[in-house]
Order: sequence, then structure tokens, then C-alpha cells
Amino acid sequence: MEFSSKLLENAVYEMSQLPGIGKRTALRLVLHLLKQPEDQTSKLSVALDTVRKDIKFCANCHNISDVDICEICASPKRDRTLVCVVEDIRDVMAIENTSQYRGLYHVLGGKISPMEGIGPHDLTISSLIKKAKEGEIKELIFALSSTMEGDTTNFYIFKQLDGLDINTSTIARGIAVGDELEYADEVTLGRSILNRIPFEGSLKAN
Ligand SMILES: [Zn+2]
Repeated sequence: MEFSSKLLENAVYEMSQLPGIGKRTALRLVLHLLKQPEDQTSKLSVALDTVRKDIKFCANCHNISDVDICEICASPKRDRTLVCVVEDIRDVMAIENTSQYRGLYHVLGGKISPMEGIGPHDLTISSLIKKAKEGEIKELIFALSSTMEGDTTNFYIFKQLDGLDINTSTIARGIAVGDELEYADEVTLGRSILNRIPFEGSLKAN
């Protein structure tokens, strides 16, 4: 792609670093911004800058939050004995949308993936195990996507819980294997949470 302007080229390059944005799309977006009033672009860059600098993670569940303890963890209405283990905030949002779940979450921040060089210590697993040992949690629900990485992560955590009096379950899926949680429709996902199955049973079924 030949550019008549270095400034334009630079903006397009930076935009094209985002996932799913090729050079052509990046050019279209930058040209679109150039046609908008200047303060539109300023609002966008300020929002990005602020979210990057000021974002916090809940000290309890590690979900993205504007405060130290997120709204879900702080709510007296939530069942603190039930913890749903998810990969990231998109899963929390998807499950919250179903209105079928009243427990807390634990956001791992990813899945164990030797291929991508992500090990247990790159995730918030030790914080989860520490909470589990404190004794308040009665059930952990594994809600990671059923990919090989998801299964590996579930099993790793399950092993770490050995000797603790905690039930483990996994969401019953009407969802095809490998589907990401965030794409499941609300009714199916809500039903999967209500009809969750014991984790060990799910291992034997495989
Ligand atoms: Zn929280």
C-alpha cells in the first residue's frame, strides 16, 4: 500500500495492529475519523488512554473494574459459596446476561496454553486456590470454553483442589465443543449453568 502521507501511513499502521483489522479496514477507519469533527477523534483517544492507564482489576475476582472490589463481589445478594471460573470479562458479561447465576466469579485472565507459552503462573490460579483454602467456597463451576486449553486448565485447577472439601462442576453445554462461551445464546447458557454436571463425571464421559 503506497501512501501520499507519512502521518496517514503511521495512523493506518497502528490501527492495523488491532486483531481482525487488516490494512484496508484500517485505512477506511482512519479516513472515516478524518471526516468526523476533530473532537470525535479526541474523545476516542482520551477514552483509550484513560482505560489503559486507570483500569483496575477486582482484588477478589480479578475482573476488570473501576474500583478495588467489583460490584458483583461487593453485593450482599450474591452467594459467596459458589464461584464460577471463567477466562475473561466477556464470559462474566455473558453469564450475567442470563440472570440465572447468583454466585461469584473468578477470572483467570486466560487459559493454560503451552503452545502460546502461557503457564499456570501467568494466570490467577494461585489466588483461586488460596481462596479455596480459606474455606468459604463450597462449589467451583468450570465455565471455560471446551477447547484443549480449557480442559487442561480445568484439570490443573481440579488437581490443585485435592484434599479440599469443594464440589466441582462444569456447565452442561448445549453448545458445540470448541465454541467460545461468549457466543452462546442467553437461554442456552442460562440452562447450562442451572443444569451443570459434576466435573469428575464429565471427565469419565470423555
Ligand atoms: Zn470481583
